[in-house]
Amino acid sequence: MKVILTGTGSPIPDANRAGPSTLVQCAGQNILIDCGRGVAMRLVAAGVPAPFLSAILVTHLHSDHITDLNDLVTTRWILSPEATPTVIYGPLGTKKVVDGMMAMLTPDQKYRHDHHADLRSGPGLQVVVHEVQPGDEFKIGDARVIVGRTDHRPVTPTISFRIEAEGKSVVLAGDTVPCSELDDLCRGADIYVQTVLRPDLVELVKQFVPALASRTNDILDYHSSVEDAAKTAARAGVKTLMLTHYVPAMQPGQEADWLALATPHFTGNIVLGSDLTSAEA
Ligand SMILES: [Zn+2]
Ligand SMILES: [Zn+2]
Repeated sequence: MKVILTGTGSPIPDANRAGPSTLVQCAGQNILIDCGRGVAMRLVAAGVPAPFLSAILVTHLHSDHITDLNDLVTTRWILSPEATPTVIYGPLGTKKVVDGMMAMLTPDQKYRHDHHADLRSGPGLQVVVHEVQPGDEFKIGDARVIVGRTDHRPVTPTISFRIEAEGKSVVLAGDTVPCSELDDLCRGADIYVQTVLRPDLVELVKQFVPALASRTNDILDYHSSVEDAAKTAARAGVKTLMLTHYVPAMQPGQEADWLALATPHFTGNIVLGSDLTSAEA
């Protein structure tokens, strides 16, 4: 099982970090979790362009986690020789969002149909959406996926995924504060991927941009801090903690500072870094 951080950024655009996205490779499957800005490019860098994705799992419908869904869907269609619908699993509400996205893509479909006879004779741009809830389980090939509950309120519903294959397991938590349901889903996992925020650095942002202080303050209480993630990892007894979705963006040379916040709370392996950082189990 290999886990690749295909985007370690956040809603704040960054020159070097794609938006939130993680690729899990196991049992011959390429499973993408969330699809922030630039993920189609990072997937190529990871050697898994859009046509090779088995499925896309969405943790929640915040824009930064789904910005490039339309790019993946379209790219898969125009680069695949055969009809291969994009398979999407997401929380309740995903169908409505995807329906809107497909409506947005209607002119593009017409242009490509009009221009390319082989696309015109095919079934067209296709997606298959499965809305899932905490407690659900499903299979992607031989990989088993378990859906968990998270706490990213006031955003609801939000979900996490535990993927098990070949005797290994990874939990993709998405945006959440620590909660008992997350602890349960993470229990004994080989790898736990958590989106994190640094409240101390967010405070600095507030001071530098006072006009946005109120809005910036709002993000503090619905994400895990680095310390929170490390404590969840310790409670659940995971082997490797991967940190991603750095808010604010981790600058080159700051890795040790971020790591130092986690190590007092978790003695296992901790992985963080630039886009395409990976871990194996
Ligand atoms: Zn979010
Ligand atoms: Zn987010």
